[in-house]
Amino acid sequence: MTFLNNPEALKAVVADRNALLRHLEAADTAPLLMVLVHLGGDPAWLGRIAPHIKGPWSFHDETPAHVRAQLCEAVADVLADYAVTVKPLPTTPPMELLPAMLDACTGQHVPAEYYPLVLEELDLAGVDPKTVHWRQPPSPERIADFSVLVVGAGFSGVGMGIKLKEAGIAFTIIEKNAEVGGTWYENTYPGIGVDTANHFYSYSFDNNNNWDHFFAHGDQIEDYIQRNVERTGLRDQIRFGEEVLSLVWDEDRLMWRADIRRCDGQTYTIRANAVVSAVGMLNRPKVPPIKGLDSFTGPKFHTARWDHSVDYAGKRVGMIGTGASGMQVGPAIQPVVESLTIFQRSPHWAMLNPLYFETVSDAKKWVLNHIPFYTKWFRFQLFWSSSDTFHHNLKVDPDWPDQKRSLNAENAKVREQLEAHIAREVGHDPELIRKATPDYPPYGKRMLRDNHWYRMLTEPNVDLVDEPIDRVEPAGVVTADGTLHPCDILVLATGFETRRMLWPMQITGRGGATILDRWGDEDPRAHLGITVPEFPNFFLIYGPNTNLSHGGSAVFHSECQVRYIMQGLRELVETGQAALEVRPEPFWDYQEKVDNAHSALVWAHPGVTSWYKNAAGR
Ligand code: NAP
Repeated sequence: MTFLNNPEALKAVVADRNALLRHLEAADTAPLLMVLVHLGGDPAWLGRIAPHIKGPWSFHDETPAHVRAQLCEAVADVLADYAVTVKPLPTTPPMELLPAMLDACTGQHVPAEYYPLVLEELDLAGVDPKTVHWRQPPSPERIADFSVLVVGAGFSGVGMGIKLKEAGIAFTIIEKNAEVGGTWYENTYPGIGVDTANHFYSYSFDNNNNWDHFFAHGDQIEDYIQRNVERTGLRDQIRFGEEVLSLVWDEDRLMWRADIRRCDGQTYTIRANAVVSAVGMLNRPKVPPIKGLDSFTGPKFHTARWDHSVDYAGKRVGMIGTGASGMQVGPAIQPVVESLTIFQRSPHWAMLNPLYFETVSDAKKWVLNHIPFYTKWFRFQLFWSSSDTFHHNLKVDPDWPDQKRSLNAENAKVREQLEAHIAREVGHDPELIRKATPDYPPYGKRMLRDNHWYRMLTEPNVDLVDEPIDRVEPAGVVTADGTLHPCDILVLATGFETRRMLWPMQITGRGGATILDRWGDEDPRAHLGITVPEFPNFFLIYGPNTNLSHGGSAVFHSECQVRYIMQGLRELVETGQAALEVRPEPFWDYQEKVDNAHSALVWAHPGVTSWYKNAAGR
């Protein structure tokens, strides 16, 4: 519901004060406080409530019930005042109060350098600031002649398409699958869901106030992406079941030429002024080079290619891998399988989040839908709780004595909490604690959510095997100690070919330079993760060094990249220039900056292996 310029909507909200107060009971304190100060401008409320908000998640709120009740009354009053006097709602909060508001909302200090980003991300005015606006109207001939090819219709490709459409730029999206959604379309394994809170893991320009869960299941995210495609009429611009085989920069025409294979195997060529790769990083399943894997006689499949024709109930299932995918599959299938043997090469850290299994109550959905600006402030709170709030945790303190297990005092504190959680969950079983506890610092690999993984490990039909795998035989998996672990079904939760970015597309830029020449097999580099010298008018979304290793939302990052790309395209269209390319100096400066920053961060830790790094540790 939009309240700006809609006094009737606000009148309906305040019409029944008792009903309003009942609904407000379901609101989280911090975003509700923000609504009150935003609309009422009274800083005294910040002083009263801020001391009770101990952190950026709703479960960090310790506000006493009677203070909360007063807050709800005050919000009802301020809304009634706007409704009765038919005053327009202020789109921006009182700017002089913004620093104190952000600190109160998160229970932490939000540094001033974040303010512009916060205001933009909050998008309070309801006019998406991330939409590119022409600085001067592009000439009709120029824009009519200009076209963009987008590769991939996952979250990023669809977001890119929506912004291109808003700008009136012609584009085509090529999608290898039969539907949009990318990773959310391909991954359908039992237990699939997102581990970033959804009210933040979604487009900023389409806040969904009706998520059923704080952490949605995979099919609900797929639905959300599809809804955005229908809402914006994007489907007509997407060619499904087609794959870009190669991209070549045509130096005579100063355009890209793309060779595309249709689902019937026929190929054709199209040309575009610019190309945006939105192919993602997590879509080419990695099949581990384990001896004898093909000799296994039972069904065997990768998590991203889950075979739903196989009934795993009552079967002996072997699962290789304990990353984000494996950790979701395990607890989902354990209750019905005869046995689950998990082959773990190295354990991951997994953190408890009390909201992980929670559903969003109808009353909370009502608040999200009906209280002006609540959803925006709620999103900001999640943005902060999921992002840089714990960046200091990731930095190596050179004076820290226990470098092997943790990086600094804060990181050690997190380790202590995680260890205590594991011990509690596995019933203080010393052998399980040993197996399930990583020997590297927290955040070394992507931090996972504990979705009852540890509790599952204690079930009698589960065996966590940390002996290395020697080989696979027709009847099961043999570990290095010579034990055969019999399996009826083998699940490969072994991740993706993340290092071979853009593979298997063949991409040739200016002067015949190929991406393979420049990057080798596994050293991709781009300026800001987006542009590459010698590859004019070529942009990447979710490119090199843009992974969220410690938190954040891939959708937020993708939107930042879309906005940057839109500015590049605007430059081309408005100036009439044919090509735009990053210069080598800023490109190499950026590489140096990234490498220097990483040298003091957890991912460079010698004890950490992860799919974020190549064989050289970069
Ligand atoms: P992953 O994190 O790369 O995990 C792969 C697992 O397979 C690891 O445990 C790895 O062990 C193991 N493995 C790989 N090769 C092996 C071999 N040869 N022998 C034995 N074990 C082997 O892959 P993923 O779990 O599919 O997750 C990938 C990414 O997808 C995540 O980090 C996340 O970004 C995304 N994802 C997100 C969600 C979510 O939001 N909930 C869910 C799923 C995936 P090592 O750790 O020792 O290498």
